[in-house]
Amino acid sequence: MEQVDVVVIGMGPGGEEVAGRLAESHLDVVGIDQRLLGGECPYYGCVPSKMMIRAANALAEGRRIPGLAGQSRVASDWAPVAARIRNEATDDWDDKAAVERFEGKGGRFVRGHGRITGPNTVAVGEREFEARRAIVVNTGTDPAIPPIPGLAGTPLWTNREAIEATEVPDSLLVLGGGAIGVELAQVFSRFGAQVTVIEAAPNLLPFEEPEAGALLAEVFTREGIAVRTGVKAVGVRHDGNTFTVELDGEEPLTAQRLLVAAGRRTDVAAAGLDVVGVKPDARSVPVDSRLRVAPGVWAVGDITGKGAFTHVSMYQAEIVVADILDVPGVPAADYRALPRVTFTDPEIASVGLTQAQAIDAGLDVLVGKVDLAATSRGWIHGPGNDGFIRLVADAGRRILVGATVIGPSGGEVMAALAVAIHAEVPVDRLLHMIYAYPTFHRGILDALHDLRQPI
Ligand SMILES: Cc1cc2nc3c(=O)[nH]c(=O)nc-3n(C[C@H](O)[C@H](O)[C@H](O)COP(=O)(O)OP(=O)(O)OC[C@H]3O[C@@H](n4cnc5c(N)ncnc54)[C@H](O)[C@@H]3O)c2cc1C
Repeated sequence: MEQVDVVVIGMGPGGEEVAGRLAESHLDVVGIDQRLLGGECPYYGCVPSKMMIRAANALAEGRRIPGLAGQSRVASDWAPVAARIRNEATDDWDDKAAVERFEGKGGRFVRGHGRITGPNTVAVGEREFEARRAIVVNTGTDPAIPPIPGLAGTPLWTNREAIEATEVPDSLLVLGGGAIGVELAQVFSRFGAQVTVIEAAPNLLPFEEPEAGALLAEVFTREGIAVRTGVKAVGVRHDGNTFTVELDGEEPLTAQRLLVAAGRRTDVAAAGLDVVGVKPDARSVPVDSRLRVAPGVWAVGDITGKGAFTHVSMYQAEIVVADILDVPGVPAADYRALPRVTFTDPEIASVGLTQAQAIDAGLDVLVGKVDLAATSRGWIHGPGNDGFIRLVADAGRRILVGATVIGPSGGEVMAALAVAIHAEVPVDRLLHMIYAYPTFHRGILDALHDLRQPI
C-alpha cells in the first residue's frame, strides 16, 4: 500500500484542476485516468467541437456576403477543419503535454482504472494507495446508447467519432436534439451533409425555454436541416452501407451515418463510490455544498448532476481545493446563476431559471422579451440576426432569476445577465444604467421595459 496525501480518480477538467492545485500546494498527489488526462472537453468535447463550429460559422458568414456586400462563392473543405482538430486542439489525441504540465506541478500521473476500495483507499490495477487527506472523484460521463432495438453493435457515431471524422458524410441522422446533437448537426450540414435531427421531446433543446428550441428548429429548417421533434426512434438497422431508423408511427429515415447524441451515462459503481455509501445505480453522486460525498471523499464535475459543463467542473474544483486545504473565503456552491451556452448559429445562451422552473419554485413571475431583429443592432446586422432576449423576474423581489439570449454572441451578451442574477441587482437599477449603442446587449434594456405578467 502506497501512502499519499490525495488521490484524484478521473482527470477531467475539474479533477485536473484539483490535482494540479493541490500538488502546487506541496501535497503528495496521485492523479489517475483510464483514458486521457484532461477528460472529454479538450479531446472530444468543448474544444474540438467549437473549432468545428468556428469553421462552420465562418462558412455561413461567407455565404451571407451576397446579401450584404456583393458576390461571393464560398466552397466548403473539411480537410483543414479535421487537420486543425488533430494538430492544434487534440495533439493527435495525445495527452503528453497535459501529463508533463501536471507532473511539472509535482503531481504523479497513473494511467488506469481507479476504484475506491475502502474509506480512504484506492486501487489501480495491482497498485493500492492510501489517501491521508482526500479522495476526489471526477470520473465524468460517457455517451449514452439508448436501448433501441438493433442500435447496439452498429457502426454508430458518438461525439467521439464525429470529432475524429476526416470526411463529411453525404447524409447524417442525429438521434437527440440536445446541445451536442444540434451543434454537430449544424456543423455537418454546413459542410454539405444532408442532416436530419430526431428528438423525442416536443422541442429541440428540451431543457431550455420552449421558444429557444422552436426558433432553432425554424432556423434549421430554413438552412435545410430536417427537424423531427416529438418522434421516437423505435428500431435501427444497418445493412453495411446505410442506417435505417424506424420511427414510432412515421416513415423510417435512412442515412449514411447515425450520430447518437442522446444524453450521457454515469457509472458510480465503476469508480467504487458504492463503497462510501453512494447507491450503485445512482445517476449522480449526492454531494453537499462543498462537494463532500463522505468523510475524506469529494466529487466534482458531471457526476454531481449539477450541470454537465466544464465551467461547473472548474467552479466546483475551486471549492474542493479550498475545503481540502482549509482555505477561508471561498463560498459554498451556489448554482442560481448557472450559465449554459449551445454554440449553434444563432448562439443559444441561458442562465438561471426558465419561466416554468420559476413558477414551479413558487415565484410570482414577470417575463420580458425583445426580438433581436427589432433592436437597432439586430436590424443593422441583417442576415443572421435571428434571436431574442427573454428575461424572467421575481415580481416579489424585483430581481431577475433567469434569462435566455439567442443571437450572434448570445453567450457573451448573457454574461451581463449572469452578473445581474448572481448579484441580485434590482431590476430598477438595471433599468437606469447605460447600455452602449448599437450593441446586441442594449436589447436587455428593451426586454426590461417589457417585463409583465406572462399570459
Ligand atoms: C461534444 C461535446 C461538446 C461539449 N461542449 C461543451 C462546451 O462547449 N462547454 C462546456 O462547458 N461543456 C461542454 N461539454 C461538456 C464537457 O465536456 C464536460 O462537462 C466536461 O468535460 C467536464 O466533465 P468532468 O469534469 O465531469 O469529466 P470528464 O471530462 O468527463 O472526464 C472524466 C475523466 O475520468 C476518466 N475516468 C472515468 N472513470 C474512471 C476511473 N474509474 N478511473 C480512472 N479514470 C476514469 C475518464 O477517462 C475521463 O478522462 C461538451 C461535451 C461534449 C461531449
